[in-house]
Amino acid sequence: MKNKFIQLTMIATMLTACNAPTNKEVADDFKYADEQFADLQMLRYKVQGFEDLTLKQKELVYYLSEAALEGRDILFDQNGKYNLTIRKMLETVYTDFKGDKTDDNFKGMETYLKRVWFSNGIHHHYGSEKFVPAFTPDFFRAALKTVDATKLPLAEGQTVDQLCDEIFPIIFDPAIMPKRVNQADGEDLLLTSACNYYAGVTQKEAEDFYAKMKDPNDPQPVMFGMNSRLVKENGKIQEKTWKVGGLYTEAIERIVYWLDKAKAVAENDQQKAVIEKLIQFYNDGDLKTFDAYAIEWVKDLDSRIDFVNCFTESYGDPLGMKASWESIVNFKDMEATKRTETISANAQWFEDNSPVDKRFKKETVKGVSAKVITAAMLGGDLYPATAIGINLPNSNWIRSAHGSKSVTIGNLTDAYSKAARGNGFSQEFVISPAEIKLMETYGDITDNLHTDLHECLGHGSGKLLPGVDPDTLKAYGSTIEEARADLFGLYYLADDKLVELGLTPDAEAYKAQYYSYMMNGLMTQLVRIDLGNNIEEAHMRNRALIARWALEKGAADKVVEFVKKDGKTYVQVNDYKKLRDLFGQLLAEIQRIKSEGDFNAARELVENYAVEIDPTLHAEILDRYKKLNLAPYKGFINPVYTAVKDAEGNITDVTIDYTEGYAEQMLRYSNEYANLPYRN
Ligand code: ZN
Repeated sequence: MKNKFIQLTMIATMLTACNAPTNKEVADDFKYADEQFADLQMLRYKVQGFEDLTLKQKELVYYLSEAALEGRDILFDQNGKYNLTIRKMLETVYTDFKGDKTDDNFKGMETYLKRVWFSNGIHHHYGSEKFVPAFTPDFFRAALKTVDATKLPLAEGQTVDQLCDEIFPIIFDPAIMPKRVNQADGEDLLLTSACNYYAGVTQKEAEDFYAKMKDPNDPQPVMFGMNSRLVKENGKIQEKTWKVGGLYTEAIERIVYWLDKAKAVAENDQQKAVIEKLIQFYNDGDLKTFDAYAIEWVKDLDSRIDFVNCFTESYGDPLGMKASWESIVNFKDMEATKRTETISANAQWFEDNSPVDKRFKKETVKGVSAKVITAAMLGGDLYPATAIGINLPNSNWIRSAHGSKSVTIGNLTDAYSKAARGNGFSQEFVISPAEIKLMETYGDITDNLHTDLHECLGHGSGKLLPGVDPDTLKAYGSTIEEARADLFGLYYLADDKLVELGLTPDAEAYKAQYYSYMMNGLMTQLVRIDLGNNIEEAHMRNRALIARWALEKGAADKVVEFVKKDGKTYVQVNDYKKLRDLFGQLLAEIQRIKSEGDFNAARELVENYAVEIDPTLHAEILDRYKKLNLAPYKGFINPVYTAVKDAEGNITDVTIDYTEGYAEQMLRYSNEYANLPYRN
């Protein structure tokens, strides 16, 4: 599972942005923000601490990074059967076109190609709708005829015109393959989705196929279907497994080649066992082997370097079974991990001192020790759009029997925040320079700390009364649960204990998070919602619930209020101490609702505070946000690692470079890691 904070934290992070750089930022001339196009902005992340790794560790990062890049074409093909062909056509025109490259059609094609690279296909990475090309079929056909035809992805005996006839409807006809993943209830989700996980199979056929495999009494069920395409050929339904010797063998063999090298420089026996099991799985495609690999991976806690490299997340399959390929190579951020360890070590103190009724507290509580990692390479479904937190493995029985690893990717969060500095967001929405200064000074620290408290303590705190069914709150359950975790963090951010533990620098710091939280919950998170719609997503509902409840309950004392300046609405916090008391009161109430399973109270809170939006305020916020011309989605350009070798071919150093451009990187990847046939 990817951290569900992803999208919202981006917004929260933007809130901590500021125009005026502090001295620290002046010294840091790293270029976090790169080019912007369509609704996307490219960023760069800094691999802080890479230089301090040992040579052997650097070598390991290098091999795993190569393995991370070799799977890129798998994802393109998983996302749609024509993606590799279309990418090659676009790239060839992009690099070899002899005509006018300043022409609107060419520019339109360039933007389209950049979006295809970003999405690993022709559908939006987030919304999954097909891109609308801003160039004409006539232009593209003529352009394709000016380039060297041997560079084009022609099928056996196919002419350029025939290629255009085959592919153009896929690009230009909005009725064909309109969505990558269709979730509309009542339609055949497989026949109406463009993803390439099924071929010629109806939803019913696929569901029946897998229902037959499942044994409801198996205590250790494998994740059926996760590593194959389901096809109907000659009337027979069968799986084409992604493995060495199977589908995608060309890419998987390259991945295994690099994993073999990585195995030789593994940090310890446990890590070696992880890599061995993964290689075995890529070879046999057996889902039992995959589970064995996942178990070894969960047990590998002592290594500095860690990685994901496999078929992992199933968001891209409308039936939620087939897993997209992805990879991340990372190493533990020792300094930041101390922070989460300190929090976890004091878990019992936090539980004992919370404002919650004693009956609902845990007698013994164990904090979850989530580690903070530094990303060193992103690949597949984590590139260029990525998560800021990951919790794996996905298999439920492995999670209960062996646990899971939860990570926060510190350098990516940091890059989001640094890149947002000076984008005008704070200037537009924060009420005064004093609050901006507050967020500039303490924003990053308290943002990270709030996330840590939420994850390491919030979700794990409290208990249900005996006999209360955990699903009693039904559709309101996840909003209440997120509110509980958020409030736990908000309440404690202002506690002297945090200063005492060295987690916050002083007793003022929490105000930065309090201000940004209220501003976000009352106003700015609305920029993600179209006018006329309600708040739907659980994290967004939770934030609205907390902020609006505190606004209303503190109204008599003017704890927080809306203020108008020059016709614009702002949030003003007048009394931070009282705001903390309100958070404490709501935490106690939310915990009561959860512990007692009080469905009616949950419904009332959510429906009253967290769903509807004032249309006038919403329109104003959207209008102000639009004028800032910010890209709502971000992705990352990877660094480039180079192995320095001696005369015998031994690696003597691995260097890192951050200067590669977006298009340059994508073209290089398409050149160096294009290991699959165009039509699979
Ligand atoms: Zn949560």
